Amino acid sequence: MGKLYVVPTPIGNLEDMTLRAIRVLKEVDVILAEDTRTTSVLLRHYEISKKLWAYHKFNEHKAVESLVNQLQTGQDMALVSDAGTPSISDPGFLLVRACVESGVEVECLPGPTALIPAIVNSGFPSDKFCFEGFLPQKKGRQKRLQELALEERTLVMYESPFRLVKLLQEIAEYFGTERQVTVSRELTKFFEETLRGTASELVEQLKDRTIKGEIVVVIRGKE
Ligand code: SAM
Repeated sequence: MGKLYVVPTPIGNLEDMTLRAIRVLKEVDVILAEDTRTTSVLLRHYEISKKLWAYHKFNEHKAVESLVNQLQTGQDMALVSDAGTPSISDPGFLLVRACVESGVEVECLPGPTALIPAIVNSGFPSDKFCFEGFLPQKKGRQKRLQELALEERTLVMYESPFRLVKLLQEIAEYFGTERQVTVSRELTKFFEETLRGTASELVEQLKDRTIKGEIVVVIRGKE
C-alpha cells in the first residue's frame, strides 16, 4: 500500500519550505500538483526532478478513483497546491476523504498556510477561532454574514483584493461599525502589511487605494 503525503508549500517566501517537505517531494513516486507549471518552478528551485500529474478543481472528481487505485498498488504520492496547505481553500479534501475511506494512509505535513500568521498578527484572541475561507459570492452570502455577526470566536476569511472594500462595507453593515478588523496583505512577501481598525475606518483607508496582492481578513469575535 502506498501513502498520500499532503505537502504545504510557501505562500510567497521560498524560505518557508520545510526540510521535510523537500525530502518527501524527493522520495515519493509522483507529485500531484494544482498547477504543474507553478510547481515546476518550485521543484527546479530545490533541484527536485519528479513525475508531475495535474490534480485541480476541474479534474479532481474524475481523478480520485484512479489515484486511490494507484496508491493501493504501492505508489507513494505527494499532493501540493499552488501555495500553502492543500485542502485549505484548495483541492485536496476529495482525495484525502477517498484515501481514508479506502484505507490508504494519509499524512499531512505541517507548513505554510495564510490563515495562521494572519490570526496571530491580528492580536485578537487566538485560543479559539473560526475559519470561513471565501464567503459565497452571491447565493447565501447575506445569510452567512448575518450568522457570522453573532460568532464570538475570532473569524478568519480569505478575500480577493478586488472585493476587499465590499467585504469591509458588509462587515460594517452586518457586524456594526465598531467591530475591530485586520487586513493582512502579502504575508511572507516583500510588501507584507497588516492594517488594523474598525471596519468603517478600514473602508475609509482603502476605498481610494488600488489594492493588490493576496488578502486575509480577521474579525474580532462578538463581545
Ligand atoms: N491553501 C492556501 C492556504 O493554505 O492558505 C489558500 C489557497 S486560496 C486559493 C488563496 C487565498 O489564500 C488568497 O486569495 C488569500 O486570501 C490567501 N493567501 C494565500 N497566500 C497569501 C499571502 N501570502 N498573504 C495573504 N493571503 C494569502
